[in-house]
Amino acid sequence: MTPAAGLLERFTARLDSLAPSGTPLVAAVSGGADSVAAALLLRAAERPFVVAHFDHRLRAGSGEDAAFVETLSESLGAPFRLGGADVARVAEAKGWNLEDAARRLRYAFLHRVLRESGGGVIVVAHTADDQAETFLLQLLRGAAFPAGMAARRGAVARPLLTERREALRDYLREASQPWRDDPTNLDLSRNRAWLRHEVIPALEARFVGVSGRLAHTAGELAAAREALEAEASRRFGGGESLDAAALAAAPAAVLRVGLAARLRALGVPASARLVSALEDAVLRSARMGTSAPPWRRDVGRGVTATVAYGRFSLGRAPEGAPDPTAVRVTSAEQLPVGVSPSVLEGHPDLVLRRRLAGDRIRLPFGSKLVSDLLIDRKVPRSDRDGLTVLAEGNEVLWVEGVAAAVGVASPGVASPGVASPGVASPGGASPSGESPSGASPSAAARSSGLARRQGEASPLGTDEHFMGLALAEARLALSSGEVPVGAVVVVDGKVVAAAHNQSESESDPTAHAEVLALRAAAKAVGDWRLEGATLYVTLEPCPMCLGATLQTHAAGLVYGATNVREGALGGVVDLAAAGWKRVPVVRGGVRAAEAAALLKRAFAAKRAASAAGATAAPVPPPEPGAGTHPSEEPQPDDSQQGGTK
Ligand SMILES: [Zn+2]
Repeated sequence: MTPAAGLLERFTARLDSLAPSGTPLVAAVSGGADSVAAALLLRAAERPFVVAHFDHRLRAGSGEDAAFVETLSESLGAPFRLGGADVARVAEAKGWNLEDAARRLRYAFLHRVLRESGGGVIVVAHTADDQAETFLLQLLRGAAFPAGMAARRGAVARPLLTERREALRDYLREASQPWRDDPTNLDLSRNRAWLRHEVIPALEARFVGVSGRLAHTAGELAAAREALEAEASRRFGGGESLDAAALAAAPAAVLRVGLAARLRALGVPASARLVSALEDAVLRSARMGTSAPPWRRDVGRGVTATVAYGRFSLGRAPEGAPDPTAVRVTSAEQLPVGVSPSVLEGHPDLVLRRRLAGDRIRLPFGSKLVSDLLIDRKVPRSDRDGLTVLAEGNEVLWVEGVAAAVGVASPGVASPGVASPGVASPGGASPSGESPSGASPSAAARSSGLARRQGEASPLGTDEHFMGLALAEARLALSSGEVPVGAVVVVDGKVVAAAHNQSESESDPTAHAEVLALRAAAKAVGDWRLEGATLYVTLEPCPMCLGATLQTHAAGLVYGATNVREGALGGVVDLAAAGWKRVPVVRGGVRAAEAAALLKRAFAAKRAASAAGATAAPVPPPEPGAGTHPSEEPQPDDSQQGGTK
C-alpha cells in the first residue's frame, strides 16, 4: 500500500465537510507538488473549481511557473486566473517583511478571484508537514496557543491538513503528473525552510512520526482555545465596550483568550506583548477604579484600545471622531465620584469624554459655556483639553475637578465640583521622619506638607492633581538650589512618597527625584515591588530613573515636561518601546508648561550667577551639576499634551 492509498476518499470526505457540494471553489495553485496534487484531487472528486495563480516576481523564472499552472488548468478543464505583484517592492514601500507581504498580496488576490466567482471557498494545499512547521514557528515565537492553521478559517479551507507531503508526491508520481519545485524553499535563511530541512528531519530521526504528533497537538490546542473563546464570549458578551471589573474577575486564560479573539476579529495580530499590555491595563483599571488614569493605545490597523472609567473597548474610531477615549455610561459604577446615580434616569445617552466646542453646563446662576467656566475657574489653558466631562450631547453634567451641574451632585458630598476622583485622604501619606536609618533624610517621604496640600481641593483631574504635588516638590528643589524636579509616588489613590532632586546637597549623582521617591515609597509600603503604583515626575525621566521605575514593576508613569537632553521616553530615546517584560503605562505632557517654567527660572538664575562669576574671575568655575540632571532647558512638547503612549 502506498502512502497515497485512500487519499482521494479522505480528501473528498474532508472537502465535503469544509465546503459542501455546490460551493464555488477557487484553488490556489503555485505549481508546487502540494497545490498541483490538490488540483488533481479536486478534478478527481468531480468538484468544479477555478485555478488561481499569484506571481510574486521574487525570482527569475517565476513566469514559467505561471505558464506551467496555466497549462495544468487547461488539462484539467478548469478556468485559469493569473495575478501578480512586485512583492519585494511593495514590502519595501510598506515596511512589511517579505513573507508577510507575499502572503497579504496573495490572499488579497485570491479573495478578489473568489468575489469574481460569486463567493465560495478558497482551497489551499497545506499539509500535516506545513502544520508541524507552523506549530513550531508559533511555539518558537511564544504564541499562547501554537494551534497551527485552522482547517477552515473564513473563506479559506485546508482539506489536506492531515495528509503528509510525501503522500501527495506519491499520488502525483502514480498519476505521472509533474510539478515545479520552488528553489526559495531551499533557502535555509528562511525560518520555515530551516525547520523543514534541518530541524524536523533531526526530530524525526529521534522521534519517529513527530510531525504527525505536532499537528495533533496543534489540533488539541486549537480545540482548547475554541473552548476558552466560547467561555470568554459567554462571560463578556459581544458589546463594543466591556466592564473592566468583569474582565478582571475571569480566569487569566479566559481573559487573555477573550482579548486576543477581539483583536483578531478586527484584523489585529494578537501578539503576546499586546495581549499582555491590554491585560495589564484592564487589571489596573479594575484595581484602581475611577482613579486609574484613562489608558489608550493604537494597536495597529486603525484600531484603538481604550481602558477608561472602568470600561475596556476596542474599535476603529469613525472618521473625524473627536475623542477616541469617549465611553458610554450606562451604570452607576461608571459615574465619577460625587455624581448622583439618579442622573442615569433622565439621561439615556451619557458619555464620559473630552470637552467639545459648544459644551454647556447648568449652574445655580444659569447655563454657561464650559469654555467660559474653565476660564472663570482659572484652569490653565494647557489642562483644559485634558479634562474629562460627563455629558449627553452638548449638555455637560460634570467637569472633572471643576464643577457639577445643578442637581447632579450626590447627597452628602459637600463640594462635588471639586471631588476629584482618587484624591487621597490626609491619613494616607507615608510615615515621615520615622525612616529607620541608612536612607538620606531627603529620601524620606515628607507627609505633613503633603497632607495639607491634599486636603485642599484641586481644580484639576487626577493626574493633574498629583502632578501638582510633584510640582510643589520641584519648587522646594528650586528654593534649595537644586535642579527643580519633583516626584510623588501614588498607590491606590494615595501619595506614599514625595521627593525632589538632591544631587547638589548630597553630592550624589544618583539623587534624582524619581529614585528618591521610589526608594521612599518602597520603604513606606514595605516592599520593593510597587505594583499598581504610579510615579508622577515633573520632567521626563532619564535612563537611570526609568530603569529604577522598571525595577519597581510600577503600573504607571506620568511626567510633565519633555527632557530633550536626557529623556528616556522619547526626549532623546524611547526606551519604553524596547520590549521590556513590564513597562508602565506612560503619559507625558501633564502640566508640562509649569514644570518647564520652573526649570527655565533655574537655568536663568544659573546663567546670571555664572555671568556674574565671569566678571569677577577670568576663569569661571565649572558648572555645578553639569552632566547630572537636565543641564539644558527642556522644551515642553505640546504634541504630547494629555496623550498616552
Ligand atoms: Zn533621573
